Amino acid sequence: MTVTITTLVENTAGIPSVLGEWGQSLLIEADGKRILFDTGPSGIIIGNAKNLNADLSNIDVIVLSHGHYDHTGGLKDVLNLIRQAGTRPDGVEIIGHHDIFQKKCVYIKGVHHGKADIPFSRSELESLGARFNLSHKPVKISENILTTGEIEITNSYEKIDAILHVQEGDQFIPDPLADDLSVIIKTEKGLIVLLGCAHRGIINNIHHAQKITGEDRIYAVIGGTHLISAGPEQMSETIKALKQLNIQKLGASHCTGLKSAAILAREFEATFFFNNTGVKTVL
Ligand SMILES: [Zn+2]
Ligand SMILES: [Zn+2]
Repeated sequence: MTVTITTLVENTAGIPSVLGEWGQSLLIEADGKRILFDTGPSGIIIGNAKNLNADLSNIDVIVLSHGHYDHTGGLKDVLNLIRQAGTRPDGVEIIGHHDIFQKKCVYIKGVHHGKADIPFSRSELESLGARFNLSHKPVKISENILTTGEIEITNSYEKIDAILHVQEGDQFIPDPLADDLSVIIKTEKGLIVLLGCAHRGIINNIHHAQKITGEDRIYAVIGGTHLISAGPEQMSETIKALKQLNIQKLGASHCTGLKSAAILAREFEATFFFNNTGVKTVL
């Protein structure tokens, strides 16, 4: 099976003719399916996809890693593009977790900053053709592709970023990010794990993927690792765990942050790559 991952949106433009913006969107082509994993924060996904010859009008399904705006803000433009093309008259399935529509926000130094949630209502998206398939359980997309469902937290060194909150009525509470999920592709060489933001931890995401598939071999891990705020202890535990897993490809994006990405690049040498906008990975 050939797996092609095209990075349509990421913080940084890795090649000419595309734009970078804080967020992430990956186009997954494998197992006869074309899956859009997140949409980035805005409509830049449309121009980037065009310049990367990635046809968004024929995607089979959209998967949302979680409800933050930087992964969902391009949804409306993608749904409009599909509607105008007339390729999906019955609408487009969107897989995610029930909590994606929570009122998510960022809390820094005692002040709530802006909204970090999906910048559209569910009904507005449904009027544009979205058909939500929301579950906390893994969702099978094809014979070899599935979502992780809700990630189990099993280690003590990966913690959810304390600045992330949800608003419930008048109250702001720490966001448990139960909606954080990844996409798993089963291959002959082991699992490919595609991360959105890995808010519940890159290692928790990988261990959960191993648990639900019964496959211990991890071939590749690509996407946002949320190591941007990791301290030295978390970095060293993460590196130790990744080395034990004997990963063949490690493509860090987005919320990895430059400093943590540089540390991973040094530790993993040829196994590592910067997964920026425009990077196409064939596995
Ligand atoms: Zn996020
Ligand atoms: Zn993000």
